[in-house]
Amino acid sequence: MLKKGITLVLSLAVILSVYLYSYQNQSILSEADLEVIDSVETAIVIPEPTVLYGMVVDSFQIAENSVKRNESISDILLAYNVSHQVIFQLANKAKNIFDVRKIAPNKKYTIIYQDIDSLPSAKALVYEPNPEEYVVFNLRDSISVHMEKRPIEIQEKSLSGVITSSLYNEIIRNGGTPELVDLVADMYGWQIDFTKIYPGDKFKILYTERTIEGQSVGIEEIIGAELIHYNSPFLSIAFDQGDGTDYFDEEGKSLRKAFLRYPVKFTRISSRYTKKRFHPVQKRYKAHLGTDYAAATGTPIYAAGDGVITKAAYEKYNGKNVKIRHNGTYSTQYLHMSRIASGIKSGSKVKQGQLIGYVGSTGLASGPHLCYRFWKNGQQVDALKVDLPSSEPIMEDFMTTYNRYRDFVRSQLDLIEYPEETKEVLLAGVK
Ligand SMILES: [Zn+2]
Repeated sequence: MLKKGITLVLSLAVILSVYLYSYQNQSILSEADLEVIDSVETAIVIPEPTVLYGMVVDSFQIAENSVKRNESISDILLAYNVSHQVIFQLANKAKNIFDVRKIAPNKKYTIIYQDIDSLPSAKALVYEPNPEEYVVFNLRDSISVHMEKRPIEIQEKSLSGVITSSLYNEIIRNGGTPELVDLVADMYGWQIDFTKIYPGDKFKILYTERTIEGQSVGIEEIIGAELIHYNSPFLSIAFDQGDGTDYFDEEGKSLRKAFLRYPVKFTRISSRYTKKRFHPVQKRYKAHLGTDYAAATGTPIYAAGDGVITKAAYEKYNGKNVKIRHNGTYSTQYLHMSRIASGIKSGSKVKQGQLIGYVGSTGLASGPHLCYRFWKNGQQVDALKVDLPSSEPIMEDFMTTYNRYRDFVRSQLDLIEYPEETKEVLLAGVK
């Protein structure tokens, strides 16, 4: 009844406003005008049902929220007057679909509810563990739980810019994400140290992005890029020779340099990287963020890759140790040395395979070993598990295909224009 009443009022309002408009324009309503009014009325009478998470929700109320710290599914549902018994049944039904204990702070959830005797009563809870998936806890007729996936679309995108302050700022300013910055910095990590500023350097990036309902949820991959560094072009083309995508230059050489698999000749790995282990000396559980290679005292230790020494010193726990910065992304560190090799001091350059010290047990160590630590973007990662870049060039068999593909990607890159202010920056003589 109420809906019909509203419809009538709206229809009258439409007729009145059209009439007033016509009056002002010194004309009278024609047959055609009346037809228009009629169709407007029809459009209002039949409302489209509101569908949310696959449910028609017109007769329900909706509350959107995010999970608070230490909040459980029970806490959320109890506030909407769902009984403990029903919550228990829901959790049971969810078992093979979604572990209800895994709901995490700050994740979005939606309650679809009705007020019954002025108390909110949940009809469904929808929890979104990530932008792609959502779990529907249905309480409408029978209790059921199911998980849905939203379709992901892959969109090709491009971005360009001129560095005035940093690569980060320039990519963000032109609509890129921190994730894209990381990928670009990692890709060019062996050529250019982006922690330094190179005003006037230019870049073009062709990439694909994953989107859900128009919203970006991450970078799929970089297809190709061109960086102009001190007026020299650095082309990067993504290509898969059968062992995963890697980045190659104009001539098909890998953009990356490999690390030595092991920096020392060892007898056995005595301890692996772990977030939790029983420390043999301290007799307590603590993280071990390195790989221990057991070897006799005096065994030579070699630099895992080219770089600059950032530390060559004695420290209480690490003993005599050396740290090498390989590029903007990677650093390695070598602990418990009996002796640091001569000439190895902070600031000196080293080549891959160069002798930097000798195995020992200085600092906190139970026996002679090398504790090898691997840093990526300032974080300690497992040297045995880190996805180390391959440095193999394009193989003979793939060369023709690669060249053709490279030319295609480059033609696409050529189509990308630099932002307008590029010209101003260059004219201003930044470079
Ligand atoms: Zn260790």
